[in-house]
Amino acid sequence: MTATHVPGLPRVEDGQLISTNPATGEEAGRVPVADETAVTDAVTRARAAGLWWQGLGWEGRKTRLLRWRSLIVHRIDELAALTHSESGKPVTDGLMEAAAAIEHLDWAARNAKRVLGPRRVRTRLLVAEHTGHLEYQPYGVVGVIGPWNYPILTPVGPISGALAAGNAVVLKPSEYTPMVGQWLADTFAEVVPEHPVLQVVHGLGDVGGALCRAGVHKIAFTGSTATAKRVMAACAENLVPVVLEAGGKDALIVDADADVAAAADAAVWGAMTNAGQTCVGIERVYAVAPVYDRFVEAVVAKAATLRTGEEIGPITMPKQLGIIREHIEDALAKGGRAVLGGADAVQAPYVSPTVFVDVPADAAAQREETFGPTLTITKVADADEAVTRANDSPYGLGGAVFGKRDAIRIARRLRSGMVAVNGTLTFVGMGNLPFGGVGESGFGRIHGEDGLREFARAKSITVRRGPSLLPAMTFERTPAQVRQIVKALRLLYGRKP
Ligand code: NAD
Repeated sequence: MTATHVPGLPRVEDGQLISTNPATGEEAGRVPVADETAVTDAVTRARAAGLWWQGLGWEGRKTRLLRWRSLIVHRIDELAALTHSESGKPVTDGLMEAAAAIEHLDWAARNAKRVLGPRRVRTRLLVAEHTGHLEYQPYGVVGVIGPWNYPILTPVGPISGALAAGNAVVLKPSEYTPMVGQWLADTFAEVVPEHPVLQVVHGLGDVGGALCRAGVHKIAFTGSTATAKRVMAACAENLVPVVLEAGGKDALIVDADADVAAAADAAVWGAMTNAGQTCVGIERVYAVAPVYDRFVEAVVAKAATLRTGEEIGPITMPKQLGIIREHIEDALAKGGRAVLGGADAVQAPYVSPTVFVDVPADAAAQREETFGPTLTITKVADADEAVTRANDSPYGLGGAVFGKRDAIRIARRLRSGMVAVNGTLTFVGMGNLPFGGVGESGFGRIHGEDGLREFARAKSITVRRGPSLLPAMTFERTPAQVRQIVKALRLLYGRKP
């Protein structure tokens, strides 16, 4: 028997990756680890499957994707239970995560033809005798590399876009949640049994690296910023394009005219759902002075009702416990005050809700992704200071604003890909809104129209429809015709606006 076990990483025994429940240590299932050849073989199979899938056309693919959607709806309890058994997250959170995944799958399936299908574009002066046609063609094979924190939603978002656009997909789920990834591929095969249009390969990070180099035409990566950089470097070797959904340090701004009770409720939810292991989780709050005291009090009262092992599940990845502990200790050492939880909050595998005030801006808890049920609240003079402080971060994923009169204006000024006004994380629930970050949070978009275009190449076609009155693109043009073209340019574009 061969066994390799790097502390903190899932166990691999006899070529099998073993998934365990972080709360109980119980085995949740095992899957074979793919070697480099297996990854390349999967991509080779996917190329052929992708051609067949493309050949089904918009309607054929839509029908299959909607069947998959319905299957997931019917078996949602099974999926949520599986997610609970290998990531530890509460079953209700698993159900909600699956609900969001279903929303994105449904939207992508129904809208792919409208967004990506062929259309005519208006002709322009220089080639007036040609018509323009635009369509978005699939890349071929898309590699999807996923994290463990939302093992259903994070892969299903890019998978929905990629499949609806006509690509085949090879998924490399997180080594902490392989069974959910396997479930997705297995159930898809029930509605598309003909060809391996959605396959899964398992293993640690090296298998993700192998997928980047296995001849895929695009990689959709979701995970940490550090890994995103490695993925981009691996993809650069063959100019494989990437969409990178990386980490965050999202801020919530509470303005003077905010509904303080609602803001506190949403802050606690945004910070502590999934035990804070959320890329778009709220980690920092900037509350303006007039509402600050009431807000802190309401957050503490609310967060104090949450129980570890109930609403707050375990920390899925053991090494994250150390990072959370460091952030807590650093915040306290730098003068921060824990108004809830604090020094003893980390009791493996759980972290109890922790709320800090007075944490200086250079503390790790204000700058780095903590990924635990912790929150810092900082008092600011006004919304301008809140925006400046919120934007003082290399990350820029999501964010939230509570307020009335200026809330949308403040939302626009936040340096991030998404902002929820008078809510937190709500943009995840709309299939028609793109999702993605700026700066160290990555680039490119999944979900919505942009998320469909991310998985297709724009293809432009011009078609000559008659003889040229002013032939511009031929050696047959005469000097007089060139002068006429310049004259036309002056008429059309020469005037100052
Ligand atoms: P991670 O970066 O450790 O791993 C993500 C995936 O990358 C895993 O499947 C892993 O096996 C694989 N991987 C590791 N090394 C690789 C390499 N060299 N080449 C290719 N693949 C490799 O991230 P994680 O711990 O699984 O997830 C948590 C992180 O994900 C957090 O930072 C969180 O903010 C982020 N996240 C972002 C989003 C988003 O949409 N922006 C969503 C969820 C999670």
